[in-house]
Amino acid sequence: AETDDRRQVVLVTGASSGIGEATARHLAAEGHHVVLAARRTDRLDAITEELRRAGHSAEGRALDVTDRERFGELVDDVAARHGGLDVLVGNAGVMLLSRLDALLVDEWDRMLDVNVRGLYNGIAAVLPHFREQGAGHVVTIASIGAHEVVPTSAIYSATKYAAWALTEGLRQESDPAIRATTVSPGVTESELADHITDPYAADAMVAYRAAAVPADAIARAVGFAVAQPADVDVNEIIVRPAAQR
Ligand code: NDP
Repeated sequence: AETDDRRQVVLVTGASSGIGEATARHLAAEGHHVVLAARRTDRLDAITEELRRAGHSAEGRALDVTDRERFGELVDDVAARHGGLDVLVGNAGVMLLSRLDALLVDEWDRMLDVNVRGLYNGIAAVLPHFREQGAGHVVTIASIGAHEVVPTSAIYSATKYAAWALTEGLRQESDPAIRATTVSPGVTESELADHITDPYAADAMVAYRAAAVPADAIARAVGFAVAQPADVDVNEIIVRPAAQR
């Protein structure tokens, strides 16, 4: 087979908006069972309800990825009820851009907590199951910011370089049956930039975001990696708007 059309059990973090939501919708439409996790459960309920009405298989679960214990419990529960967990899409993230000299140190901590600790909390939660199953797949949503630093992105880029490194390390250390993919989006339509508090960074974002592609463009890249046969590991996909420099 050119692609793996097996129905998989997929957990998507940060599935209440943007890229995570689009990825959950895409993978559900591909026939997978999708667990949508995030903090805003009202959003998750509305999305899962819509997916189910369309005949897809989905469930919404409350999760703050910075809560390691809760992450572990959720993964254990999903695996117990579905006979395993095949794919973790580590997508939850925040991008609180600012120049270092603005000293928004609480926002630095927040980015590190969600983008890095939230990611490895997920890896810690799924690895025991992947080992037991003898297979599994982690898809990390990193960023163009995992490849370049621009003014205001120092800490955000640091977290995304870390996300890239974590995923690459997982690939190198794991049994070949455990796959690791990094998807690095360029500017994409979502709520990501809405949380920036630094006026200088928020201003700079306005022109930058004009070229954004719909989140489904990133979801399709995730879908491509997930659909590969077991002996093919897509290590990284960079997806940018054609107009982004
Ligand atoms: P959104 O802000 O639309 O989505 C972010 C998601 O992360 C939300 O679903 C949010 O859910 C979730 N989230 C935030 N904090 C937590 C937390 N502590 N626990 C669980 N979930 C959390 O932005 P995007 O869709 O753009 O972001 C998704 C990923 O894509 C991020 O990692 C981002 O860095 C990356 N990315 C985005 C780009 C873009 O241009 N949009 C470009 C490059 C990378 P909730 O608040 O309900 O918990």
